Amino acid sequence: MPYLQIDSQKFLHNYQVILNAIAPNNPEKIAIVLKDNAYGHGIKEIAKLAHYLKIENAFVKNTDEALQVAPFFHHTTILYPYSLPSDSLLQQSLQNPKIYFCASSLESLKDYPKNTRIELKVDSGMHRNGIAKEELTQAFQIINQNNLQLKGIFTHNGFGDDLGSEFYTQNVAFLNIKQESLQLCAHYKIPKPRFHSLNSSGAFRAKDSHTHLVRDLQDDLFRIGIAFYGYLCQDSAFFAPKLKPIGALYAQKISTLNLEIGSRIGYRGISTLERNNVSTYDIGYGDGLFRVREGMEVYSAEGFRILPRASMDCISIESTQEEVCIFNDARPLARIFGTIPYEILAHLHAYIPKVVI
Ligand SMILES: *Cc1c(COP(=O)(O)O)cnc(C)c1O
Repeated sequence: MPYLQIDSQKFLHNYQVILNAIAPNNPEKIAIVLKDNAYGHGIKEIAKLAHYLKIENAFVKNTDEALQVAPFFHHTTILYPYSLPSDSLLQQSLQNPKIYFCASSLESLKDYPKNTRIELKVDSGMHRNGIAKEELTQAFQIINQNNLQLKGIFTHNGFGDDLGSEFYTQNVAFLNIKQESLQLCAHYKIPKPRFHSLNSSGAFRAKDSHTHLVRDLQDDLFRIGIAFYGYLCQDSAFFAPKLKPIGALYAQKISTLNLEIGSRIGYRGISTLERNNVSTYDIGYGDGLFRVREGMEVYSAEGFRILPRASMDCISIESTQEEVCIFNDARPLARIFGTIPYEILAHLHAYIPKVVI
C-alpha cells in the first residue's frame, strides 16, 4: 500500500517561519488554505495539525471540505460554494454559523438566503473572479436588501510570485476598495468586514507594506497555502524563506525480478536495465503520480532510477528495497514535468493513506 507521510515537525517549522516573517505579533492573522484536500496532503489530517497550532481561519474549495473541517476552526470559508452538485451539503453548510461563503458576482449574491455569511470577492486587477470595484455600491444594496451578513471583503493578488510593479498596483487597488467599503459600511450601518488579499508569496513580500496603514485599512488575514506545505514558487530574485516540504510519498514493493543487464522493461520495452535488479512498486499514474515516460530521467528520493513507462497502478524502479520514497520534495518532479509543485501535490489521490509522524 502506498502512503503519504506527513511530517508534523516540519509543519510546525513552516508555521513558525510564516508567523515570524509575516505577522509575529498577530498569529490570528494567519489563515490556512486547505482547498483541494489540503493540496493533496489530506484535509482532515492537516486541519487537525492547524487546529493544534490554534489557527482560527481556514479556506476550502467546496461544501464537502467545509463540513469536514468546520469543527476545527472559528471560521471556514468556501471559495467555490457551488462547485458540488449536492443540495444537501449546501443546506448543511448554510446552517452552520461557522461557515462563510465566497460570492464572486452580483448574481451569486442574489442566490443566498437571508442571513448567509458572505465574503465578497472583488477584482483588483487579476481579472479572474470577483465583482468590479464599480459594482461595490450595488453589492452593498443587495446585501442590505437581502439581509445578508457581510463577513469579509477580499481579493486575490495574482502577482505575488513575479518581479514587477503589478503586485503593488493590485495592492493599491485593494486599498481603494477597502476605503470605499468602509464608507459603504458606515452608510448602511453594518460592521466592518475582515479584509484579505494575499497568498503565501504575496504575504511574504508585502509583510511590511501593511504596518504603516491605519488598523482599519490593514489586511486582517493572510491566506497561506503552499508555504504551509513547505514550498514557495516565487521568482528566484526574492529572499527565499527556509520552508520544509511536509509530504513524502512512499510505495511498497510488489515483486523483484532478477534480470540481466540490458533487459527491456515494461510497455514497449522502452527502458533498458542498467543494473541487475528491478522491482515493481504499487503506485502509478492512476494514483495521481505523473506518468513517467520515455526520455525522462526520474529518480526516487534515495536515488533509484524510476523506469519509463510508468503504468496506471505500478512503476518499475531499479531497487530491491521493500519500500521506496518516490519523493520527499515535489520540486524535482515539477521541473521534469514542466509544472509547479502545486500541481504535483494536488494530483495525489485522496484515497492514498496519510501517515502523520
Ligand atoms: C489557493 C488560494 C490561496 C493560497 O495560495 P498559495 O499560493 O498556495 O499560498 C489564497 N487565496 C485564494 C483565493 C486561493 O484560491
